[in-house]
Amino acid sequence: LVSRKKKPENTVVDIKGTKVGNGNVNYVFGPCAVESYEQTAAVAESLKSKGLKLMRGGAFKPRTSPYDFQGLGLEGLQILKRVADEYDLAVISEIVTPKDLELAVDYLDVIQIGARNMQNFELLKAAGDVDKPVLLKRGLSATISEFINAAEYIISRGNGNIILCERGIRTYETATRNTLDISAVPVLKQETHLPVMVDVTHSTGRRDLLLPTAKAALAIGADGVMAEVHPDPAVALSDSAQQMDIPTFDSFFKELKDIENRLK
Ligand code: PEP
Ligand code: MN
Repeated sequence: LVSRKKKPENTVVDIKGTKVGNGNVNYVFGPCAVESYEQTAAVAESLKSKGLKLMRGGAFKPRTSPYDFQGLGLEGLQILKRVADEYDLAVISEIVTPKDLELAVDYLDVIQIGARNMQNFELLKAAGDVDKPVLLKRGLSATISEFINAAEYIISRGNGNIILCERGIRTYETATRNTLDISAVPVLKQETHLPVMVDVTHSTGRRDLLLPTAKAALAIGADGVMAEVHPDPAVALSDSAQQMDIPTFDSFFKELKDIENRLK
């Protein structure tokens, strides 16, 4: 069902009036994790000042170590909802279990399924049963075929509002945290009718590479870019090495918008 052979037209995912896909370029920015109301609101303020509508922030964090910050859980979702209402934003957050999904639909505008859960088939089925757009990230070592099959799990249950997100894959290369598979964007766009975004934060793991890779994403035809922004990355409870502070984000966004306009 996700195949372009089945449906030649591009799918457009409507997130609270923001259209994702079919030539609309969108951005998803926000902190790695929701840490407090004040921290989340500071980022929301910056998004609002730029006319941006989509904000991310993790409440259930899938961390490699059990001793690392695991996220605020329900309290994180509550903070996101409050900030969304106050700043007129749509919010996106990762959900890791089918049980939390039931809870999350009341707080979120988009359900994110993270790389580590791309083949959590029960979670994919549960996401296919809800009436909310899903942002599905590519698995840590997933082939494109496996990625497409994961999306098929969701659409086969009735939910076709899916955004695919390339977030880098594991290779032998250690210069970057993962290897951004930029060619996945045109491959996914040829094979499927779904919008495709690129997460430049988790693919590179390097703040100095966010802008060049985001430019590449737009140039190659991605429907959007995701990147992490934190008011004070040095004290962030997760991903402190690659989140942008607000002044860095301001110049990143200005340059990226300039590229977006030149590509039109
Ligand atoms: C995230 O976006 O917060 C995240 C954990 O990313 P990924 O699942 O791609 O590692
Ligand atoms: Mn992160």
